[in-house]
Amino acid sequence: MRDRPGAQGLTAARAEGIQCCAASRKKPAPESAGRLPIAYVMTVITLTFDNGPEPDVTPRVLDTLRRQGIRATFFVVGEKLRERRHLAERAHADGHWIGNHTYTHRMPLGTITEPGVAAAEIERTEKLIGDLAHPRRLFRPFGGGGQLGPRLLNREALRYLQKKAYTCVLWNVICHDWSRPDGWVERALDLSFAQAHALVVLHDLPTGAMRDLDRFIAAAKDRGATFAQDFPDGCVPIERGQLTASIAPYVSGNDRCTAAS
Ligand SMILES: [Zn+2]
Repeated sequence: MRDRPGAQGLTAARAEGIQCCAASRKKPAPESAGRLPIAYVMTVITLTFDNGPEPDVTPRVLDTLRRQGIRATFFVVGEKLRERRHLAERAHADGHWIGNHTYTHRMPLGTITEPGVAAAEIERTEKLIGDLAHPRRLFRPFGGGGQLGPRLLNREALRYLQKKAYTCVLWNVICHDWSRPDGWVERALDLSFAQAHALVVLHDLPTGAMRDLDRFIAAAKDRGATFAQDFPDGCVPIERGQLTASIAPYVSGNDRCTAAS
């Protein structure tokens, strides 16, 4: 039952109403881990950190990852990168991958109707990332509350990602570390071990949650998990501009552009 783990993960994510992203103040979904039907013993876990960098959090996260021998991906917000690029440089120097998480992180791209705005959200951040960018040009959208759905992209954003050969990285584990920082470790463990390959979204934000990162990693290792930097295929619907799966569930009809640009 370990074939196509990512696709399975996305299905499970939808079934559980999994949410993510610190932009939203929505009330999170009810606890659901106990109802998951499968527990993998040899789970592979990939860690990603969104919405930073943050000077009071990101360095501690990097210290923890170095101590634990884990490489991850940081999906950075362009607006923050302007003054804090040194933090992304340190992450890059430690072997972590740097990805694009929009410039302002204010509106999910799928909700934007004004032409040019969605593409600019991606382009401005990529310019700031500059030579720290991974060759696959990693981009992670957000849905507000972390929902996988048509709020992730509008048609303009999709065309832009394809034209500029971006790799779109989604997720299959959301543990609400930003909204319920006290209990995220147990939720993340339960949800991760329900996947053959878990792609976990965390946030290097000043919520206090990342003080427990070391405990999460240690507990996952104790249960038999291994950590990998690359993403499960089923969480990557666009690879270097090429569609690898149906993208329709993640694209809204919002934008007034009619031709590829
Ligand atoms: Zn986010």
